[in-house]
Amino acid sequence: MKIEVNGNSLELMIGDITKQSTEAIVNAANGTLMGGGGVDGAIHQAAGSELVEECKKIREEDLDGNYLRTGKAVITQGYDLPAKFVIHTVGPVWDGNNQVASEQLEESYLNSLNLAKENGITSITFPSISTGVYRYPVQLASVIALHTIVEFLQNNRFGDVTMTLFSERDYQVYKKALKGVLEKI
Ligand code: ADP
Repeated sequence: MKIEVNGNSLELMIGDITKQSTEAIVNAANGTLMGGGGVDGAIHQAAGSELVEECKKIREEDLDGNYLRTGKAVITQGYDLPAKFVIHTVGPVWDGNNQVASEQLEESYLNSLNLAKENGITSITFPSISTGVYRYPVQLASVIALHTIVEFLQNNRFGDVTMTLFSERDYQVYKKALKGVLEKI
């Protein structure tokens, strides 16, 4: 499913994000930035070990040794990935508190998009942040993700945004959510 928003495009697709050749891909990272399971592990595996080296440097030099906070985003090179850049963001862990988690999830998408724009990036693809190991219900997360992206595109000349979903089920949930978001604008 592909739509146009203010001269930008937004597309939902099914696929493996490590194979995408948008200028940037987004990683649903954890605060350590050292890799992990799920999409994070797949991205680190495909990018090669230079990625973790750059992440270590960011932790030491930019974050004073601290973890990347939930909702924040940082950018690295893509190394062996088809994508030139990886934007790493930490989504919220679902604990049943919809209010706090939804604000943090919105921040993850928005900070990633703003960081991409600041770096002159015009095409980006997102995974379904927080809906795997972090257990955020995909029906709720999809509405927040798409509402945030659509609003950003309404306010910016950006380019192309895609969501690379990992299953037919997720794709159908996001498709329904997008229809709902578009009805409200
Ligand atoms: P989180 O910890 O933020 O929940 P996960 O990696 O556990 O992150 O899951 C986020 C989403 O990414 C899930 O929908 C999962 O199915 C999906 N995913 C896992 N591997 C890939 C991949 N290679 N490409 C795209 N999506 C993926």
